[in-house]
Amino acid sequence: MGAAPWQIFQFCPRCGVARASALRHAAPFRCEACGFLYFFNPSVAVAALILRDDGKALFIRRAKDPAKGRLALVGGFVDAGESAEHALRREVREEVQLELDEVQFLSSHPNDYHYQGTTYPVVDFIFVARTLDHDRAAALDDVASFAWLDPHAIDLEDLAFPSMRDAVARFRVARATGSP
Ligand SMILES: [Zn+2]
Repeated sequence: MGAAPWQIFQFCPRCGVARASALRHAAPFRCEACGFLYFFNPSVAVAALILRDDGKALFIRRAKDPAKGRLALVGGFVDAGESAEHALRREVREEVQLELDEVQFLSSHPNDYHYQGTTYPVVDFIFVARTLDHDRAAALDDVASFAWLDPHAIDLEDLAFPSMRDAVARFRVARATGSP
């Protein structure tokens, strides 16, 4: 756990005037001196449940903190100027060397991302995806190892983030009821 971004803005990033600690909350930062306004909006992250034809899905073990060693879905943060789908395809390529074919939105979830003493608010967009070349999978950036596991059989508590647990649970319900 760490401080949220709005708790650590001690000075105006434009003019440098000190900010009263009483004002350090999630409401937009507004500098009394120069009028600079900053919104502490969440970052956007994407992840995918990548399915193979036999119904198994790709899960990774995270190589780095946060949640080093924990089970997770492949994914990462959306860069400025990218669509969520583009970011997902890029992250999957960078982390496990796969090209995605079909990509379908599943659900979105708020998440707290603890990184180097700061807790960032994030919205995770989770997709269900397919790949035509699953045999090419390799553990690259940020990935210690990977495995194709039955998403209906894994222990949800093994997953690194609550958002991923919620997404896999939702996937199970969707499959059970036949909705996409
Ligand atoms: Zn200022």
